[in-house]
Amino acid sequence: MRSISPPSSPRIDSLSIHYPAVMQVDVLRLDLIHLVISGNKWYKLQYYLESAIRGGHESIVTWGGAWSNHIVATAAACQLAGVRSVGLIRGEKPAVLSATLQQAMELGMELQFLTRQQFDAQILPPALSTQNHYCIPAGGYGQEGMLGASEILSSVRNDYTHLLCAVGTGTTLAGLAHACSSQQQVLGISALKEHPELEPAIAGLLQYVEARWELRREFHFGGYARWKPELLRFMNEFYEKTGIPSDFVYTGKLFYGFEALLKQGYFPRTARVLLIHSGGLQGNRSLAENLLRY
Ligand SMILES: *Cc1c(COP(=O)(O)O)cnc(C)c1O
Repeated sequence: MRSISPPSSPRIDSLSIHYPAVMQVDVLRLDLIHLVISGNKWYKLQYYLESAIRGGHESIVTWGGAWSNHIVATAAACQLAGVRSVGLIRGEKPAVLSATLQQAMELGMELQFLTRQQFDAQILPPALSTQNHYCIPAGGYGQEGMLGASEILSSVRNDYTHLLCAVGTGTTLAGLAHACSSQQQVLGISALKEHPELEPAIAGLLQYVEARWELRREFHFGGYARWKPELLRFMNEFYEKTGIPSDFVYTGKLFYGFEALLKQGYFPRTARVLLIHSGGLQGNRSLAENLLRY
């Protein structure tokens, strides 16, 4: 068995010519680091995988939905590391598997379908609970995930004033806040509607770390994995302008939120902004084919 380690320096694209109201706008292209283990997932998984291998566990178990980036990334990372993987999927087994679950299976992941109650409780089904599994919490939320995500910044210059990321569990935001300097501010754009547990969940990961972070909740477009035509129109325009594709669950909302805040005058003229492209493009396969122009 072997572990995975992140690539040394992900690409950075400059968008400064499109946003003259601030000093600098860059995008960290984590969507390009791996074909399947894209974006923040590679970083969040690395220490979980290491612990599982060090502990001699016979397989890795994790939770996710039918279009989950985390599920397909875990399947691919486990295949690379040579560890068995089991995906516990929310809801009844559908007649036709989603492209994401199909791909996870092809990567060697064994799938089991849980009722919503079983899934939400995140306990192992009885048939699994007697075996020597290593469990990765849903979305990779936890200390190992946060420390892994903190390495996103290890190859990045530290003169950015604002670091922006999309937020699901908040693990990535916490990792950025853990790694950044006291001069920097981390701004998370939530992909979820309301969800008051998010702030304490992030604070719980950071514990004694003092960092300037803020969560913005007004760019969810109806909630997790929800969208409106305005979001897809924005994503198409953003792609035509910058050449950067985004996903409708996370990074589309991130880039939309960034532009909206910029228009509101949120950023000072001297701001140097880094947008973290956390990947997730595979999830666009759940959309009808003609909606996105990429
Ligand atoms: C999983 C995911 C996120 C959310 O990351 P958290 O660490 O759970 O907040 C953001 N963007 C993309 C593309 C993702 O797949």
